[in-house]
Amino acid sequence: MLLVNEQDNKLTPTIISRADHSISRANISENALKVLYRLKNAGYQAHLVGGGVRDLSLGREPKDFDVATDATPEDVKALFRNCRLIGRRFRLAHVHFGREIIEVATFRALHDGNGEETEGGEVAFQDGRIVRDNAYGTLEEDALRRDFTVNGLYYNIADYSVVDYVGGMADLQAGLIRLIGDPEVRYREDPVRMLRAVRFAAKLGFLIEQNSAEPIGEMAATLEQIPPARLFEEVLKLLMGGMGVQTFEALRHYGLFNQLFPGTDQALDSDPHGQAMGFVSRALANTDARIAEDKPVTPAFLFAALLWPQLRHRAEARVASGDNLALALQEAGSEVLAEQMQRVAIPKRFSLPMREIWLLQPRFERTHGKRAQRLLSHPRFRAAYDFLLLRAAVGEVPEELAQWWTEVQDSPEAAQAAQERSEAGARRRPRRRRGGRRCTPSE
Ligand code: ATP
Ligand code: MG
Repeated sequence: MLLVNEQDNKLTPTIISRADHSISRANISENALKVLYRLKNAGYQAHLVGGGVRDLSLGREPKDFDVATDATPEDVKALFRNCRLIGRRFRLAHVHFGREIIEVATFRALHDGNGEETEGGEVAFQDGRIVRDNAYGTLEEDALRRDFTVNGLYYNIADYSVVDYVGGMADLQAGLIRLIGDPEVRYREDPVRMLRAVRFAAKLGFLIEQNSAEPIGEMAATLEQIPPARLFEEVLKLLMGGMGVQTFEALRHYGLFNQLFPGTDQALDSDPHGQAMGFVSRALANTDARIAEDKPVTPAFLFAALLWPQLRHRAEARVASGDNLALALQEAGSEVLAEQMQRVAIPKRFSLPMREIWLLQPRFERTHGKRAQRLLSHPRFRAAYDFLLLRAAVGEVPEELAQWWTEVQDSPEAAQAAQERSEAGARRRPRRRRGGRRCTPSE
């Protein structure tokens, strides 16, 4: 509930004093505190906002710390030597401390929601979608244009209180993801908010509040307007954030998965034995497990798995009409990738190894001779083998085949292959020209 003070038409925030909330400076990164204090000491307002406040209130460790202030990006730059201004659509200051970046955003002004652009061009719309948002305002306005109530809480470094204009504390306690304002308008302004709703719900184990959930089905198709490069970043956050299985299920439930991976969605729906679903779910579960164990994960493997069910169908059809399997995989792979790139732009550094994982699959069928030996020494052997295990788990290839490749890795032949691989690597490495640039290996 928003409390409106009738006299000046301003909202009255709930101020939760230090004694009444659980955010402690001990859990805030030192660098974020440095930024907050320096802003405050220079006479600006400085608040921690967004995921930092949300996660700390829930006793979770925040992924990063975002700061909101009334200082303009230029003011922030003047205060910090290690500061870069970024973004055109949404101008921000990034303060760098080694690998940690503290994102500092200036309070944004509220627009009236009916797509009025500002005269100076700070705010611009396309079909109700905000394409530029650089008009600065007050904390109150800033709070109202954040996405969800649980993301709209401010931790004030001046008195350590939490400022709540949007009922965020109550929703944190109730476990609800609720859009601030009219859900349809807010999804139209930025359709990515539908994906964010699902992501936060899965990550926190929250429910999407009914009015915020309702328009998603009908509005899912507006994600078409989002540039595929932004969707790639979003897909990584959705599926490689440690809760991939739940997030995937929720994306399917709300009809959003179809917008991101239309070919995969169709392959899942038209698979009578559930083999494709088993395959994709296992790939996501493996990724979640590796993240939980702090093991490295690569988008190349996950994308290879997500696109595999449709690739398999298409390659099989080509084989049925006379292509050999290697060629069929090659050509169907190009097709599948080209179609996927219309939605989600997979950078080359991931799509190249992804294709290698696919193309190596038929080579596992041979378990003797020089060729098997050569496969063991292939630089992408490990990822392709993990992929083979997934295929075996859903009955796509015999378990014995996967078993054979598991065992052979402990054999003297495998040891020799590894040796050959490192020798070949050494031979291939270019000699350094004196005074020349050092070559960095490309993926
Ligand atoms: P996490 O960093 O854990 O993924 P977060 O809530 O911090 O979650 P960010 O993407 O870092 O998410 O964004 C920081 C804050 O900026 C959000 O909490 C929200 O208040 C605001 N925000 C981000 N994206 C949007 C958006 N598309 N529309 C409105 N507000 C947004
Ligand atoms: Mg964040």
